[in-house]
Amino acid sequence: MKAEKALIHELSKPGRTAYSLPACDVPVVEHHRLIPSEMLRAEPAELPEVYEVDVIRHYTELSRRNFGVDNGFYPLGSCTMKYNPKLNEEVAQYAGFAKIHPYQPEESIQGALELMYELQRDLAALTGMDEVTLQPAAGAHGEWTGLMMIRAYHEKRGEVRAKVIVPDSSHGTNPASAAAAGFETVTIRSNEHGLVDLEELRAAAGSDTAALMLTNPSTLGLFEAQIVEIARIVHDAGGLLYYDGANSNAIMGIARPGDMGFDVVHLNLHKTMSTPHGGGGPGAGPVGVKKELAAFLPAPTVVKRTDGSFGLGGGAEDSIGRVKAFYGNFGILVRAYAYIRSYGPEGLRRVSECAVLNANYMMRRLEPYYDIPFPGICKHEFVLSGKPLKKFGVRTLDVAKRLLDFGYHPPTVYFPLTVEECMMIEPTETESKDTLDAFIDTMIRIAREAEEQPERLLNAPHHTVVKRLDETQAARNPVLNCSCR
Ligand SMILES: *Cc1c(COP(=O)(O)O)cnc(C)c1O
Repeated sequence: MKAEKALIHELSKPGRTAYSLPACDVPVVEHHRLIPSEMLRAEPAELPEVYEVDVIRHYTELSRRNFGVDNGFYPLGSCTMKYNPKLNEEVAQYAGFAKIHPYQPEESIQGALELMYELQRDLAALTGMDEVTLQPAAGAHGEWTGLMMIRAYHEKRGEVRAKVIVPDSSHGTNPASAAAAGFETVTIRSNEHGLVDLEELRAAAGSDTAALMLTNPSTLGLFEAQIVEIARIVHDAGGLLYYDGANSNAIMGIARPGDMGFDVVHLNLHKTMSTPHGGGGPGAGPVGVKKELAAFLPAPTVVKRTDGSFGLGGGAEDSIGRVKAFYGNFGILVRAYAYIRSYGPEGLRRVSECAVLNANYMMRRLEPYYDIPFPGICKHEFVLSGKPLKKFGVRTLDVAKRLLDFGYHPPTVYFPLTVEECMMIEPTETESKDTLDAFIDTMIRIAREAEEQPERLLNAPHHTVVKRLDETQAARNPVLNCSCR
């Protein structure tokens, strides 16, 4: 048994420092001359006084408690936690990309501008759109940007359309973005196959419909085979179709939202294209639009001039304006560009084929042990229900906690809300069959334990630094200083 590590404030002794600086040889400016006095602390902050090595050990220890795709399998549905090739990290570090400044003259950053221009073209080609903005910093930000363009489009035509339709399986950001963009959301129930119910949609669509927001494949991992009819219903009512492409892992190089009838698309480069998702790090949620909406794009976009040079352009009178400082999170764009170019069109198609194959393989092997609410072929992810374990007093949450003991990040649980005791599993294309099999065997073992030793699950996790957390308190009353374990 490892001895408990002392917390950093327990190591504190007055006078210890982690650095040594030479004596100051420039005039000292008093704080209060630079900072208004009401903003200054009355007492010095109570920081631990420790040596450098203590600080290093403290933060290294904290970093080891993190779990990420580089530690192990992370089948978190609707998140695409896949391995991100390290080559693309290296490319993003090139000085010509990492050490430039957005205020530099355009002629000195032609390479960066060309990369952005080419990425705009590649993403347009991949999604079947005409024009793309790279500005939005996240998926939800892309949704909001797209909806603001939809709003501007209707206004320009002199129409007031206040409602955005979303299915009940939609990602929570969809209704939230619609509300943030000033729309009212109308939720429609899915049919018994987990798909859009055409009758519900027909009843909801009308002269007040601004747009339908749809994820296809849906968050249940199901492809809306009736998408052409869905698009017709919405367009006939005068509305537009918004494609939530946060997870494009299932369709790259196979199907394009633009061909399905969508007018606006956002992608999460920080899921599908070589940037890890989560942890609050920078992301990129580019938005593509059909030409009817191009005039409303945020400005600037990157343009290619007639002399072959690249520059910033757009920003005609109908533009919704700027949605992000400078041009978006450039480092993420570099990774995505490197990803697209290193795979090429065939490689991207193969990514999606393997992601879908892995999900179906896992679903079929788990079918005898858990409920499969929608038994057809799934796309890049699938949902299981832990309902059969309820008779042993075990719930999906217990399965998720038990998985931690085996070194796995649990799948997404209790989402989508439409499936009882839901687990949403996304294996991704970057895992080997060995990893998939090991996870499947663990899930089978847990299903057996539920029957034979349910207390193993109810008391899980057994081997983690912290056990079960009060998730409500953790969200409502977070304690974020170093004295908490
Ligand atoms: C992740 C996700 C989003 C939101 O993306 P963020 O970058 O987290 O804002 C939206 N829709 C779907 C379906 C998602 O999976």
